[in-house]
Amino acid sequence: MLLKNAYIFKDGSFHSSDLFIIDDKRWIAGKNLSAVKTDKVIDLQGKYIIPGLVDVHVHLRQPGFEYKETILTGSKSGAAGGFTSICAMPNVVPTPDSVDNVRRIRKIIDSDACINVYQYGCITKKREGMELADIGKLSGYVIGFSDDGNPVSCDSIMAAMLEQASLHDCLIATHCEDLSYEDPAKREYMHIERDIGLLRKTGISCRYHVCHVSRKESVELIRQAKKEGINITCETAPHYLIFTKDDIKSENYIMNPPLGNKEDREALLQAVCDGTIDIIATDHAPHTKEDKAAGAMGVIGMETAFSSMYTYLVAAGCVSLERLVELMSVNPARIFGIPQYSDFTVLDLDKEYIVNTDEFFSMGRNTPFEGMRMKGRVIKTICKGKIVWEYTQ
Ligand SMILES: [Zn+2]
Repeated sequence: MLLKNAYIFKDGSFHSSDLFIIDDKRWIAGKNLSAVKTDKVIDLQGKYIIPGLVDVHVHLRQPGFEYKETILTGSKSGAAGGFTSICAMPNVVPTPDSVDNVRRIRKIIDSDACINVYQYGCITKKREGMELADIGKLSGYVIGFSDDGNPVSCDSIMAAMLEQASLHDCLIATHCEDLSYEDPAKREYMHIERDIGLLRKTGISCRYHVCHVSRKESVELIRQAKKEGINITCETAPHYLIFTKDDIKSENYIMNPPLGNKEDREALLQAVCDGTIDIIATDHAPHTKEDKAAGAMGVIGMETAFSSMYTYLVAAGCVSLERLVELMSVNPARIFGIPQYSDFTVLDLDKEYIVNTDEFFSMGRNTPFEGMRMKGRVIKTICKGKIVWEYTQ
């Protein structure tokens, strides 16, 4: 497949170029590749090509909650959002706390997923926070470890996990929520402070990653820890960069951690610019209408992620397109060790549209972005050298 007349992101910047995709792993970028013999030629007329988007925090709900989402619908939703690789959190049943359980999920992924889907393993058995899972055995089968949805409250279990993560060179992604506090900000940053303290005290260096950072105090703790040389990375989600608690209009603005105030949002934007925040991940959390009405936490995010971030960060002049590509593709791939090979996302940056959930592939409709005007959209998703989704209108 030959993609002609594009701007391709390579080594941190965009270059006017053609892209010849040889197969699932090999490609060549260069000027005037028209001499190449191929079955398919697409003239992109100046559109942008970036390495495929990577979402390190999604909930696919299978097995156990197929009435909310499945690996099939979730991966299609990812493809429509421009994602070529996504990492599925382990709050499913049976939980991926044993090699057998992970293998069972892998089987569904291999038969149903249209993009690269990686599975997280549990830190503790059944995500109950009581007993460490067999990290050594699991580490070869999962992209990282998390009890997401639940914190790891016990200090000694977290310390043991940090040691295991260091020993087996695996990544630990923490849902930071200290349940002994009421205040949502304190809940988040006290847990982060505890973990940074453990890393400092034990001297353990491991791949420690903080999920969905939402508060200014958390940002400051992580900024200082990075300065100290502690190996720590973190993500935030589009909703925390766009909304504050004053914007809450319905249950589709309710998630955990909850939206913060104006100062939190500003601190997150600053951290996205200065490199304290490494990754933007969606925390895609599909629920049925009934479950949302009953108080279920979370919003879907993959099909609006790029457009919302382009509209509110790049078009608004806060960050460059190059920085957004780092946050949504380059950094998550590097930090999580995800190969990108012939994985690309094609963007039409001038395209304006209104978000319509009727067109979504996700089974979830719980998004605060319904009806919002967006600028910039994904028009093709190429995974392993093949077009897995394209915009036709
Ligand atoms: Zn979480």
